Formats: sequence, structure tokens, C-alpha cells
Amino acid sequence: MPRFATPNQRSPVPIISNPMEGNHMLKGKTALVTGSTSGIGHGMAEAFAAAGANVVLNGFGDPAEIEKTRAAMAEKFGVKVGYSGADMSKPAEIRQMVQDAIAQFGALDILVNNAGIQHTAPLDEFPEEKWDAILAINLSAAFHAIKAAVPGMKQRGWGRIINTASVHGLVASTHKAAYVAAKHGIIGLTKVTALELANAGITCNAICPGWVRTPLVEKQIEARAQQAGVSVDQAKQQLLSEKQPMTEFTTPAGIGALAVFLCSDAAATMTGVSLPIDGGWTAQ
Ligand code: NAD
Repeated sequence: MPRFATPNQRSPVPIISNPMEGNHMLKGKTALVTGSTSGIGHGMAEAFAAAGANVVLNGFGDPAEIEKTRAAMAEKFGVKVGYSGADMSKPAEIRQMVQDAIAQFGALDILVNNAGIQHTAPLDEFPEEKWDAILAINLSAAFHAIKAAVPGMKQRGWGRIINTASVHGLVASTHKAAYVAAKHGIIGLTKVTALELANAGITCNAICPGWVRTPLVEKQIEARAQQAGVSVDQAKQQLLSEKQPMTEFTTPAGIGALAVFLCSDAAATMTGVSLPIDGGWTAQ
């Protein structure tokens, strides 16, 4: 017996092709991505749709624009796409969103806790209401959504929970007290969820992006340009090179492909991990 399979021998290991290229490995699954009307969440929702999953979008924005995005995604990928306008700072709305997704699609197989906001200020000037809002949306919302989604996943013996953390779940930066606390918290929540569900067919992992050029970061670039009296392009370069050895932004599509991989059979035993996709930020 040859040790390695020759080209005409069938490999016992299923080969996963690029999920963005029409591999429908998530066909029949339903994925809910919070905060998917923009940025990273939108990239993840698209990647799930490209992999054949039905998708529930969530987030704020102009209703007509959201409807355009929803219909375009459904048309482009030939899947069903729903939308929930639930506010992630309101636990009752989060529970309702999960119930509605199950009612609309029959089950909720993949939950991505991604909605997030940012506010930067020195600790002694940090507005209390911003602390409360960031903790509610970036951390507590994930707890409420996981709690609502897990019973159905347990019943079916399959589930994937992905939390969008950040490099700021692993290391800190100044002026981001609430954000860093919430992101460190969500990594803890990821680990507890993974442990409790280890033998229930459900995995829970965190993705930790470095800089991704989305509206959330655009605001920080503009503030920097104004404060330093430099152009937006210079501010962008400064922002990147201060923290990231690689002076490139990570893309929402790249994060989407990583999320799809976490839902593949190949990742069935990956649970409780925090995966940086950060241009080397946390390697330092
Ligand atoms: P974004 O501003 O482009 O998108 C945020 C999304 O969350 C939007 O759809 C918005 O409508 C939604 N949202 C905000 N508040 C909400 C609420 N109360 N209820 C429901 N939806 C709400 O930002 P992004 O950069 O795509 O951020 C997405 C996630 O990625 C966040 O958790 C963020 O912390 C994380 N992240 C971003 C970066 C980056 O560089 N952009 C890096 C690491 C982690």
C-alpha cells in the first residue's frame, strides 16, 4: 500500500475548495449575523450566502438601502435572506430576533455575534453612557443571543457560534477602556461556551481582526487626521503602521472566508479558540 494516495485514488478526507467560489457546503443551514448591514458583518453574511446558507441580516441603516442589500444578496447567491432590525442593546429584541429567525427558516444553525460600536477617550474622561452602551452591544448582546440560540442547536446536535472579537480582545490600546474590556470579555464568553457545549456538536470560536477599513475605523481615521492636521491618507498610514507590522487592512471578505471555514467539517474540533487575522499585530 502506498503511503500517500496517488492522483487516481479517492482521498478519504473531503477537500474543501474556496468557499467564496460557489462551494455550497452550507446549503440548508441558516446563519444569523448581527451587525451585518455594514462592514465585517456584511462580508461574513456574503460569505455564508456564497457557501449556500440562508442568511438573516441585522443592523441599523436606511431601510431602503437595507432592503436593496437583502434582495441583491438573495438574488446573487440564490439563497433566502431575511432581516431583523433588532437593537443589540435590548435583550428582549435579541431574543425575539433569534425566535423570528427560527420561525422564518425552521432552525438557526450558525450564530455570528458581530455588532459592535466604538468610542475613544482617556479613562478619566470616558462617558459613562458610552461605557454602558459598548458593554451592552459588544459583549452582553452575545450572551443573550447565545442563550437564545443554544437550545435549538442542542436539539439538532449541530451548531456554530462565532464571536467577532478583535486584537483588542488579546492586547490593549490607550483610550479604548470599554472596547478592550468588552472584547477581552467576549473571549472569555467564547471559552465558557465552547467548554459547556464541547460534546453537543456545537463549537464556539472568536475571530480577532486587526485593522479593517469599515465605517467604525473610518471615524477613527478622520478624527486622527483632524487632530494631527494631516490628510486622511497620511492618517490612515499612521494608524496602520503604529500597530500592525503589515501595513494593509484586513478585508471583510477575508474574515468571511475564515468564518465559513469555522463552519466546515475540517474545523469540527476547533473550539474555544481566538484567531487573530491582524497583519502581525499580536505577534509582537
Ligand atoms: P461597522 O460600523 O461597519 O458595522 C457595525 C454594524 O453593527 C453595523 O451593521 C451597525 O448597524 C451594527 N450595529 C451597531 N449598533 C447596533 C445595535 N445596537 N444593534 C444592532 N446592530 C448594531 O463596524 P465593523 O468594523 O464592521 O465592526 C464589526 C465588528 O468587528 C465589531 O464588533 C467590531 O468591534 C469588530 N472589529 C472591527 C475592526 C475594524 O478594524 N473595523 C477590528 C476588529 C474588530
